[in-house]
Parts: sequence; C-alpha cells; structure tokens
Amino acid sequence: MKAVRFHEYGGVDKLRYEDAPDPVISDNEALVRVRACSLNRLDIWARMGTRKEHVPMPHISGSDISGEIDRTGKLVTGHEKGEKILVSPGISCGICEYCTTSRDSLCPSYKIIGYETQGGYAEYVAVPRENLLQIPDELSFEEASSIPLVFLTAWHMLVTRARTAPGESVLVWAAGSGVGSAAVQVSKLLGAKVIATVGSEQKMEKAKALGADHVINHHSADVPEEVKRLTNGEKVHVVFDHVGTATWEKSMRSMAPGGRLVNCGVTSGGKAEIDIRYVFVRQFSLLGCYMGGRGELLQVLKFFEYGRLRPVVDSVFPLKDAAKAQERMEKNEHFGKIVLKV
Ligand SMILES: [Zn+2]
Repeated sequence: MKAVRFHEYGGVDKLRYEDAPDPVISDNEALVRVRACSLNRLDIWARMGTRKEHVPMPHISGSDISGEIDRTGKLVTGHEKGEKILVSPGISCGICEYCTTSRDSLCPSYKIIGYETQGGYAEYVAVPRENLLQIPDELSFEEASSIPLVFLTAWHMLVTRARTAPGESVLVWAAGSGVGSAAVQVSKLLGAKVIATVGSEQKMEKAKALGADHVINHHSADVPEEVKRLTNGEKVHVVFDHVGTATWEKSMRSMAPGGRLVNCGVTSGGKAEIDIRYVFVRQFSLLGCYMGGRGELLQVLKFFEYGRLRPVVDSVFPLKDAAKAQERMEKNEHFGKIVLKV
C-alpha cells in the first residue's frame, strides 16, 4: 500500500510518501480502507521525537480516521465489507478499574491509534473491533475524520472535568485550532457564554460564526483585561487551555473566584509558575485532561446526527502532500481541521 512514513525523527522533510507493507489483522481486528485522516498536533510531536519510546518505527501517523471496512478478522461480527466507519482513537484494556468506570484514558495500557500504533496516513489501517463506529449519514469522510480527537477532548474537558453549567462563561484559548473550534461549539451547546481568542484578524469572523459571543485577538489585546471588561468585572468560570506556558499566567488572571482551568496540551511549552495564594484564596481548580472515553465519543457523535455540532474542515490535502499539510499546522495558518484525503 501507499503510506506516508518517517524512519527517523526531525522536520517535515522526514515524511516520505512511499510503499509500505499492508497491515496484518488479528482475529479481533478489521482492515479499514482509509478515505480521510485529519491531522493533530500529536502527529508533529511524534515526528519530532518528543516521546520516542511511544512511537513504533518506521511510523505512520494519523489518529483521526474515517473509511470503509475492507475485511474483518474471525471474531469481528456485525460489520460488513464496504461499511462506512469512523475510528475511535483510543485503545484500552476494557477491564481495569479505569476502563470500567468510563475513564479509559487513565488505563495503564491506554494507547492512541496512529501515535502508539500505526495510523491513518495510509491506504489501509488495522483497527480493533471495539474502535469501529458508524458514521452519521449526514457526514462526508473528510468531515467525519475531523471529529474524534478534538470533540472527544473538548467534551471530556468541558462536560466531564469542568462540569460547565448553563449561564457560565468560558474562555477558549486559540479557537482557530481543531480543539479550540470544538470547544467553542461544545461550550455553546452547554449554554455557556464564550469568549474566544484567535491569533489573526481573519480568524475573528470565523470564531464568531462558530458561535463565540466575543472574540479577542490574543496577539494585539490584553486578554485578562478584555475578559474583565466583557464580563463586567466578574471574569470567567472556566478557562479552556491547550497552549501552556504562553497562556498560563493570563489564564490565572482571567478566572473568577471558584474558577476551573482545564488543560489538554502545551503547544507553547509545559513550564509555568503558580502563585499558590491565587489558587487557595480564590479556590481555583486545575484540571488535567488527556483524550476521553469511548462512551464520551458516542455521546458527542449524537450531536452531529442532530446537527447541533458540526465538524470544522479547514483544508483538504492529498495523502502524498502530508508534509505540506503539517507545515500549514506548524505555521498556525489553519482554522479547524486539516484533512488528508486518501
Ligand atoms: Zn483498562
């Protein structure tokens, strides 16, 4: 099959469009003919060798996969050749304390497809039967592949962890990113007021169109001051962060007493200072998030059937241009999800 792989860590020049062996499936897996695969920052961290011990080499990235069943292993029932499917990205044991309490991503054997296994930057991928999900009829392959990681993560952060309530306010950093564009929509779905930040004037209208009540350019404005002004001095109940070092202190200054900071990533770096007095006097909660559970993905998918959430596709590249697609992500030129069409 054709695939985009890297054989050593480094820049986008390490990505090679080449022939690779077809995946071999076990009795419990299906072979999926990939039709679309969207990009995540994780693909860039993997290629750069950030957590080398997790990435099998040579490596095929790609965790957000849609496609069709090509064939199934002996133990896979209820699926047939040609069926349109979406891949749930997390693999876990299914029987431990965490898996049996819907906290799959805390499972000691938790893995992300396309990061800790071979992924969807390829014509075919092997997928465990538990990870095969139906695609809502309304969605194209490109749209379907734009959903799993970012909406699952945003749901886990805002619903499960931060318990965002109707009438509360949420500050969403970098709403032009995949997870940010999902967070704006999920916050609105929950009845919250959304203040979104973006990094360019062109992205301001797009964030508004997604439902943000207010949009701030985080390069030109003083975000905590703007947040204070837009909330009549109250500040926000929830801060949705995936940026880390660059936003940490501003997040602290933007939170109302009792505020919750939820974080799922550190695109600008992972070190920050905390003035602990801020945390205990104002009774802040700092909530870490990593992916979410299969059950949460099933919940969030329903809202695509009802048309209450929609995938945000920024651009579509052919598989062979995966390097160009990753460059677009590294330059932060995108708004929403960058998709590879296979
Ligand atoms: Zn488990």
